[in-house]
Amino acid sequence: MKHAEETAREVKTTCPYCGVGCGVLATPRPDGSVGIAGDPDHPANFGRLCSKGSALGETLGLEERLLHPTIGGERCDWDTALDRVATTFQAAIAEHGPHSVAFYLSGQLLTEDYYVANKLMKGFIGSANIDTNSRLCMASSVAGHKRAFGSDTVPGTYSDLEEADLVVLTGSNLAWCHPVVYQRIAAAKAVRPQMKIVVIDPRRTATCEIADLHLPIRADGDVALFCGLLRHLVEEGATDEVYVGEHTTGFAEALAAAERWRLSAVAEATGIAKSALTAFYDLFTRTGKAVTVYSQGVNQSASGTDKVNAIINCHLATGRIGRPGMGPFSITGQPNAMGGREVGGLSNMLAAHMSIEDAADRERVQAFWGSPTIAATPGLKAVELFEAVAAGRIKALWIAGTNPVVSMPDADAVGRALAACPFVVVSDVIARTDTTAYADVLLPAAAWGEKNGTVTNSERRISRQRPFLPLPGEARPDWAIFASVARRMGFFGFEYGSAGEVFDEHARLSSYENAGSRDFDIGGLAGLGASGYDLMAPTQWPVRGAVRDPVRAPATDRQAGRHTQETRFFAEGGYFHADGRARFVAVEPPASKTAPLFTINTGRVRDQWHTMTRTGLSARLSAHMPEPFAELHGEDAARLGIAPADLVEIASSHGRAVVRALVTDRQRPGNVFVPMHWTARFAPSARIGAVAHAERDPVSGQPALKSTSGTVRRFSAA
Ligand code: SF4
Repeated sequence: MKHAEETAREVKTTCPYCGVGCGVLATPRPDGSVGIAGDPDHPANFGRLCSKGSALGETLGLEERLLHPTIGGERCDWDTALDRVATTFQAAIAEHGPHSVAFYLSGQLLTEDYYVANKLMKGFIGSANIDTNSRLCMASSVAGHKRAFGSDTVPGTYSDLEEADLVVLTGSNLAWCHPVVYQRIAAAKAVRPQMKIVVIDPRRTATCEIADLHLPIRADGDVALFCGLLRHLVEEGATDEVYVGEHTTGFAEALAAAERWRLSAVAEATGIAKSALTAFYDLFTRTGKAVTVYSQGVNQSASGTDKVNAIINCHLATGRIGRPGMGPFSITGQPNAMGGREVGGLSNMLAAHMSIEDAADRERVQAFWGSPTIAATPGLKAVELFEAVAAGRIKALWIAGTNPVVSMPDADAVGRALAACPFVVVSDVIARTDTTAYADVLLPAAAWGEKNGTVTNSERRISRQRPFLPLPGEARPDWAIFASVARRMGFFGFEYGSAGEVFDEHARLSSYENAGSRDFDIGGLAGLGASGYDLMAPTQWPVRGAVRDPVRAPATDRQAGRHTQETRFFAEGGYFHADGRARFVAVEPPASKTAPLFTINTGRVRDQWHTMTRTGLSARLSAHMPEPFAELHGEDAARLGIAPADLVEIASSHGRAVVRALVTDRQRPGNVFVPMHWTARFAPSARIGAVAHAERDPVSGQPALKSTSGTVRRFSAA
């Protein structure tokens, strides 16, 4: 039972880790510690938290923090640092043009941070060289949505996963990577045992604990698998001809492309037994309420966008989209990958889901900002951006809230590129990361618990992150740092006094009146004022005038309500292509290559987050997996003379990593899994990013981090 004074100090905020976007109650205590609990009123988690969220209070210490600006490693004041950033960017632009500078951002940043950085780069510098580590997370889903729907719209909600009679989880280890969504599905299945779960993953992951069927798919077999499903649906007469006829185009072409995917061909391409394929196809065919969830295992692929469209094709063909318990559902990895998409934080997008390639959209944004220019062509996507740095084409680079020297593929090449770049700015909360080592100017940013702003989760729900700790040292919010540099560069329109003012401008731009918004209309959240922004409840977009009232209702009413109104898209068509119809996409699997010696797969473990700058501070979290590992099958281990816990070397043409062997029967033979988290600080030889190849999807630009071809051998120091 909480004391009244403790309740009075309680702050409602949002977890800074994964894209589930759980509500958190943070209670600062007189002894300096912070109590953490799940927010029972937040519609993403209804009070649940996972191990990472529960341990948030253990990761708030100031050790490791960057507290003062530095230039060349020497402490300086903010004015000196900001002047140096502004004048150096100006000089590069004056001498080499606007495309000689770039920003590389993070799905950890808040929407307000993203908005100001995007406005500065696209509307005032005049380049679209602003990309984000979210490119590594969900860019293939964005591209797939736009091809199919005409807009980057996630049709469903988390409650669909509870209402479905069949949940297909493909390329998604929810139990470890999105644990609260997993808990919600598991709880629903516990009360409705007839609900079926299918897990499609090369590994038998923790998610398989609730699976009725596990399909151990070969890397990149997804296009063949879902083309085979489309064909099967037609053969069984399970398509919805009315929906297809009234709301879609391209069905015949997609079906023709799927024609060759008979059961034997699918079995050969995926490595899945025919009996298991038939079981999956039959389940999908006869279960009306079906949701297909996908995340990095689908997105992080050289054919990621085609995989997304192969999945969406099956839902369009059956009309299972936008209705309760039905739809394709992309789950984002990071806490604000979705918010970044909303403000145009990707190099090929404009704010408010508008298109950089559409002259009318560019005109709307430029007019709204009153800016001197507007980027007219897409900028460099993440991998291209660092290749341009390496080639000497980027003269000034600003990295905010991310650690690309660990997380990018071919990570050592990224380090070399930064070393050669004439000017690198890093704004971060941590003083020493693998990336801050290359910074000419280091700027201390505010961290979770200190920042004020919003994030959007995987089901389009905008939630507030609220501060409950004072800003330490000289740390400042990222939006304020970008705005300060913009003003020093002589630009008007960056005179924000608070995060709420930035949000208000973002909401106004994103209204139907200003953006002609097709889907992402949050005009209903404009004009809230400081107290309205402060009290804003978790709100799913679109937020048009008609549903703005709950946001403005008295706080007591909002806090009493457990559920806000949920919006789904496309049950009755209404797609965002000019003709209002969805597009089937005729997809082909990637051309077959020489079989890799080993397929190297990377991903997350349950209790660490990204490069461990926060979760690495919790002894409790670190106890789950104390050191990095390479999970490989017993047959491979025996063949290579590797015993459990031996050191093994994982190598590709880019680099190598040395980690301990974890020999299991959960892995496909010929595959090895190495977690992405360990950096040079924690385990110098274990950076799997140095091994991962830079191959990427040709449509989305997302790197294929799940399928580097390489070798595994027992490591010997001799
Ligand atoms: Fe945070 Fe994700 Fe865990 Fe929720 S599921 S508490 S958002 S890490």
